[in-house]
Amino acid sequence: MQGDNQALLSVRNLRIEFPNRRGTLVAVDDISFDIAPGEILGVVGESGAGKSLTGAAIIGLIEPPGRIAQGEIFLEGQRIDHLPYEEIRKIRGRQIGAIFQDPLTSLNPLYSVSRQLIETIQTHLPLNEREARARALELLDEVGIPGAAERIDHYPHQFSGGMRQRVVIALALCAEPRLIIADEPTTALDVSIQAQIISLLKGLCKEHGTAVMLVTHDMGVIAEAADRVAVMYSGRIAEIGPVQEVVRAAKHPYTHGLMGSIPHIGHHVDQLTQIEGSMPRLQEIPSGCPFNPRCEEASDRCRVERPNLQGVEQSEVACHLFDAQRVEARAGE
Ligand code: SF4
Repeated sequence: MQGDNQALLSVRNLRIEFPNRRGTLVAVDDISFDIAPGEILGVVGESGAGKSLTGAAIIGLIEPPGRIAQGEIFLEGQRIDHLPYEEIRKIRGRQIGAIFQDPLTSLNPLYSVSRQLIETIQTHLPLNEREARARALELLDEVGIPGAAERIDHYPHQFSGGMRQRVVIALALCAEPRLIIADEPTTALDVSIQAQIISLLKGLCKEHGTAVMLVTHDMGVIAEAADRVAVMYSGRIAEIGPVQEVVRAAKHPYTHGLMGSIPHIGHHVDQLTQIEGSMPRLQEIPSGCPFNPRCEEASDRCRVERPNLQGVEQSEVACHLFDAQRVEARAGE
C-alpha cells in the first residue's frame, strides 16, 4: 500500500518486535498514522508505550535485536523503512532532523559548535565554507543564542543545558528538513526553560514549514505545541485526533486519565496519569484491550476482543464503548 499522497509522512501497519530466548516481544503493534506538511503531531504515552521506538523506526535507528517486523513507512511517497543504512543516513539529516532528550547525544563534545554546524550544512547543502558559516550564524541567531557571533566557536560544554538544546535545534534545522523527530526535547531541561524551548521549536517549525513528530510523556507540552495528538498505550494507538478535540473532550478512558494529570507547561509531574495501576510490561500485555485491567468501563468483551480504531467526530478511537454508540446511532436512524 502506498502512503497517503497528501501526507509528508505515512506510517502503515508498523510492527516492531524484540526477539528473545523465550519468544518475541511486540513493542509496537500495527500502528498507522500520517503527518501532513508543516503539521506538529504530538505522540504521548507512558514510558514503554512504544512512542520513542516509533520515532526511532522512522529515522532508521532501532537498536538490534529490535526490528521492524511488519509495515511500511513513506516519506513524501518514498518508502524508507527498508533502505540500506547509508541511504537512510542521508535522509536522516537532510530530510528528517532529530532532537533528543539529551543535547549531548546530538553534539560532539570535542568539536566547536561552528564546526558541527558548518560540517552538517556542507554535507547537505551546496555551500562553501564562508556561506555555510554565515548560515550557521543566522541559525544560532534564529534559535536565540545571545551574542551568537562571539559564541559560535565555543564548545558544547561552554553552553548551559537550555542553550545547548537551542544549538541542537539549529543543528536539526541546518539542512532545511521537511520533518523533525523531537523525542522528549525538554525533559532533561530545567523546568523554567522548558516552555521557552517548546515555543521556540513550535515557532521555528511553523516559520520554516517543517513538520514535527513531538514525542513526550507531558500532556502539557502537547496541549501547548501540537496540532494533532496520538495517544499510545502498550504499543498501540488508543486515540488520535485534533489536539483541541482531544484535550476538550477526550474519548478513550485512558486519554481521560491523562487529561486528569495535565500539568501546566514548565511544571513537572511525577506520574503521567491518575489512573490506578501501571501500563503492563511487554511480556504481560493482556488479551483484548490492553487497557482493560485498569479501565473502569471494561466489559467481558474488552477482555477478549481487541478494539480497532474507528472514526468518532474528527478523531479515531480504539475502544468498544464507541462500537456500542455507533450501533445505537444506527438503530435510531
Ligand atoms: Fe475500557 Fe473496554 Fe474501551 Fe478498553 S475497550 S478502553 S477496556 S471500555
